[in-house]
Formats: sequence, C-alpha cells, structure tokens
Amino acid sequence: MFNDRYSRQTFFAGIGVEGQHKLAQAQVLIIGIGALGTSQAELLARAGVGRLRIVDRDFVELSNLQRQSMFTEEDAQQRLPKVVAAEKHLNAINSEITIESIIADVNNSNVESLIAGCDLVLDGTDNFATRYLINDACVKNGVDWIYGAAVGSYGVTMTVLPRQTPCLRCIFEEAPPAGSAATCDTAGVIMPIINVITSIQVTEALKLLTGQRSALHQSLMQFDVWENQWRQINPGNRRADCETCGLDLFESLSTTPAESAAILCGRDAVQISPQRPGSIDFKALAQRLRSAGEVKFNEYLLRFTTGDFELTVFRDARSIIRGTSEIATARSLYAKYIGN
Ligand SMILES: [Zn+2]
Repeated sequence: MFNDRYSRQTFFAGIGVEGQHKLAQAQVLIIGIGALGTSQAELLARAGVGRLRIVDRDFVELSNLQRQSMFTEEDAQQRLPKVVAAEKHLNAINSEITIESIIADVNNSNVESLIAGCDLVLDGTDNFATRYLINDACVKNGVDWIYGAAVGSYGVTMTVLPRQTPCLRCIFEEAPPAGSAATCDTAGVIMPIINVITSIQVTEALKLLTGQRSALHQSLMQFDVWENQWRQINPGNRRADCETCGLDLFESLSTTPAESAAILCGRDAVQISPQRPGSIDFKALAQRLRSAGEVKFNEYLLRFTTGDFELTVFRDARSIIRGTSEIATARSLYAKYIGN
C-alpha cells in the first residue's frame, strides 16, 4: 500500500492504486538529460516510476540553467556530468525509487544494451541521428518510445508503438539536411515549449505504463507557444516500404562503429569519440598536459585549457572540445593532446 505521497495521483481515476503499483514496477530509459530530459525525469520521479535509467554525454554549464530544470549554479560551477547532477537531485526528490545514471554517448554499440529491460524510452536528445538510432533499436526490440523535440517556441512529439503505429522513419524518411532547419544555434529555445512537450510525453508515458493504450493521443502533435498555434496531425498508416518497421533494415544499428565527431548544438564545441573507448588515467594525463596549459580533474572528467580551447575528457576517452565548431580543428587538438 502506498503512503500519502501519491494520494493525489491515486485519487485520479486514470491512475488509481492499481496504476500506481504498475508505475512502481516500471523501468524507463531517458536518453539525453538536457532540457527535455531533466523535465521528463523530474515528472516521472515525482510520479513514482520505480526505476529510471538516465544517460547523457555532457556536463552542466551556466548556459543550461535557463531551460534545463533541476540543474543549479553549483552543478555548473562543479562542472558535474549531467547525469551525476540529475541523479543527486532526483534522489532528493524521491528516495523511494532507483536512479541508474550512465555517462555515455549513445551510439550503435550501446543503444540496445541501454534499452534492455526497459518498458519505455523517452527521447530527450537534440539531434536526428540519435533519434533514428533510438527508433531502430526500439522497433527491433519491440520497446515503445516517445519522440520529442523543441526549438525556438516550437515543439513536436509523437508516440511510437513498434509495428502498431507509424515509426519515426515512416513519418520522416530522412533527416532534414544540415543547415536547412532551425537549430538551437540559430533560433534559441525558450523553456515554456520544453514544458509543453514534456507534459505530453510524460502523460503518454503514464498511460502506457499503466496499460491504457486507448487513451494515447495517436497523432503527431505540434505546438508553437509564441505564435499561439497547435496542431494534431493524423500520422496515417505505417509505410510498407519503411526501412525500419517495414523492411527491418535497421541501418543505423548496423554501421561499423568508428571514430566519430559531432558538432554540439549551440555550444561552439565538437565531441570526439574514439573508435576504441579506453580507460583514461586522469592523474597520468594531467601530469603530461601540465606543461601545455591548465589542468583540473575530478572523479568523472578532466578539463584542460590551452589558449582559446578547452578540452574536457571523460573516463572512456571521449572528449568535448570547446572553442571551435570545426571538426578538423577538434580532431587535431584531440590527436595532439589526448592521442589515440
Ligand atoms: Zn516505420
């Protein structure tokens, strides 16, 4: 029996005591603990979802605080990895649930193991490449997932039930070409649209986790909170020639993992992920780098500043290089200082 904690939720006819028990037994994966992810995580933790697995590749910065609820100035000063800061706050919000935090870049080598054991996946990412990866992994493994995105004052969300409803690839056959769509680099983003999108995503999550599929909105929902517009689009049927849910090609899962570089949205930064993740000895690396610049490290990451560049290195040898949005420049800085 639940104590008073969830009384307002168990009084709610849609959930009730039975639904609350189902939430307590559920496990949800949140990919990306930025603006969307922190809001999703807080709502699910307060609702009493029993296990939350959160994964993110980044650390907290001051410019996150405008829209990434949960993070504080202290988190930014300490440059905590986002999942570490989020786990701390989520434990303070609800100590009765289990939080599993993972510092990692989600890619084709780990996405299926991250999904394993989860009832549902929530999209908290900021890029189409990762969303196609989530879509492929979830359709292949038959795990429901909820797409969400926001830029400027506009946001969109859709719930994907593998092989029952259209998947992301059914709707968007290809990602918009780089530079053609507004990104947070060019359009910024305001927090209210984040809250609208995560409110819809998490409500859908509560319906799914309590087994009420008939209550799902069954549409592509779009909102613009500045232009005062919202639309609910019927997504139609699944496409028989969909590469993911029609032809089972799962292209993004099958490419060989390689060293990858990604420009980070709105950050003047590039992430370099080595082909073979290593295990970095921060103490030894710090000694090596001290003659070339300023070095600081904690248990999760090492920060090296040299000239106009700042390199943040994680235990697995992944690095976020700030001071450039040129992949070539980032690669050469990585090779010079971290080596591979
Ligand atoms: Zn599809």
